[in-house]
Amino acid sequence: MEKRLDISHYVLGTKVLGPYIRSALWVHGCCFDCEGCLAYEMNRRDPDLRSIAGLAQMFAGCTDTEGITISGGEPFMQAEGLAEMLDIIKQRRDYGVIIYTGFTLEKLSESCDGGIKRLLGMTDILIDGQYRKDEDDGLPYRGSSNQRIILLSDRYKDQYESYYLAGKKRDIEINFDKDRVNMVGVPSAGGLKIWKDLIKRAEGNGEGI
Ligand code: SF4
Repeated sequence: MEKRLDISHYVLGTKVLGPYIRSALWVHGCCFDCEGCLAYEMNRRDPDLRSIAGLAQMFAGCTDTEGITISGGEPFMQAEGLAEMLDIIKQRRDYGVIIYTGFTLEKLSESCDGGIKRLLGMTDILIDGQYRKDEDDGLPYRGSSNQRIILLSDRYKDQYESYYLAGKKRDIEINFDKDRVNMVGVPSAGGLKIWKDLIKRAEGNGEGI
């Protein structure tokens, strides 16, 4: 049987989820239940099972992207499938991988699960730890200050200082899919309010979002 990943959505080019232009993939479902989770509704939608080979082919074909950022949901709940997808892409081209996870690096490192080990071994930057609403203090590229941006390889060593540490503000993009509008990036309190107002207005017009 064809192997599949349960996903929420993806974009094929963003500048707000890591260095360079990247694809981004949000997997569906999470084993955590963080108060204030931005993905709460998304994680409760019906499963959307997609062919791993098909996803790999699509992402590998986006040659203007340097790599991918994977978020969710919880990527390490589908570690084996994601590792397989990345394996196919990496056989075709050089590809950088950034992953957001609710697990800490320590927790993942002590796991005996082969898929988790494989996926961790393919990750260049891990942004780890559960979202904590009371520690959401505006730091860029992460939801709360307990989350760490950890270099697991040298791939982004030269970008780390300027990209992650240079006092940047949070930034979002609004992405228009054929039947859905998605917010990409980690929003500031102001950005989140604008997004929620947009959703309310669209729902009021009966348009949905
Ligand atoms: S780990 Fe992330 S996706 Fe999962 S509940 Fe927490 S904030 Fe939401």
